Amino acid sequence: PMGFCPSATMSQLGDNFTGVLHPWARPEVLTCTSWGAPIIWDGTFDPDVAQQAAGERNLTIGLTVFAVGRYLEKYLARFLETAEQHFMVGQRVLYYVFTERPTAMPRLALGPGRRLHVQRVVREQRWQDVSMARMSTLRAALAGRLGREAHFVLCMDVDQHFSGAFGPEALAESVAQLHAWHYHWPRRLLPFERDARSAAALAPGQGDFYYHATLGSVAALRRLTTHCARGLRQYCARGLEARWHDESHLNKFFWLHKPAKVLSPEFCWSPDIGPRAEIRRPRLLWARKEYALLRT
Ligand code: UDP
Ligand code: MN
Repeated sequence: PMGFCPSATMSQLGDNFTGVLHPWARPEVLTCTSWGAPIIWDGTFDPDVAQQAAGERNLTIGLTVFAVGRYLEKYLARFLETAEQHFMVGQRVLYYVFTERPTAMPRLALGPGRRLHVQRVVREQRWQDVSMARMSTLRAALAGRLGREAHFVLCMDVDQHFSGAFGPEALAESVAQLHAWHYHWPRRLLPFERDARSAAALAPGQGDFYYHATLGSVAALRRLTTHCARGLRQYCARGLEARWHDESHLNKFFWLHKPAKVLSPEFCWSPDIGPRAEIRRPRLLWARKEYALLRT
């Protein structure tokens, strides 16, 4: 279904860095949401224009990632090495790594204009708690050095690696990443939290898309992490846990506060899904899940 997106074509260089948008270049996929936000697919933007627009603003782009427990040895080196090759090349980048073992950090030669900050965190016992604690840890970081030094911040899982150019076309005030496994599912089947006791609950009929991750301006992410950390805390105090943990709260937030831009699953793809005609050039690939190894 072709979606003509007036806001996308008009805001060519506005605050969304997309560069020239050609939604008609991808007639086979949805390129605009019902509230007028562009859905960025390969071929719908001009990476050079986005690059130049971002460069002119002298941006610092933060990339946060948690590597706690076995996730550090298993994934962090490849995540960072491939980020050096593909992530925001030509921009100023600040990697922000959260780990309980700063001394175990892999060695990495960073390109010019790229810095890495390691922040120690306490190791939560359960993997669910590690995942959920990210919201309040990020909120604190955004209120501190990360928030002062970066203009935009991307919050990513570590169990993935970059496989293609991932540039400023992804940036906007508030951006949601479509979940690779669920982007083509009917809305009523999307795995939102449905338990009405949860702060993350969506009623039947609610929910636009199912999202996996987020990025945005520091101000937007402070709102998002504050909302999600509060929901997680309240729910946890009652001995309950949302279906997909922090992801459930993220999805609730984006139902209430629509993102200004949506990234197609090409920006975060799982090879386990198999080939799909509309996935042209994946930029970030999920590692195969090895939960038995990682989560025991
Ligand atoms: N994580 C971690 N250590 C853990 C559990 C989670 O570092 O023990 C971090 C890591 O960045 C990971 C993210 O939290 O990518 C989310 O967890 P996971 O990737 O296992 O969740 P899934 O992708 O299956 O939702
Ligand atoms: Mn993951």
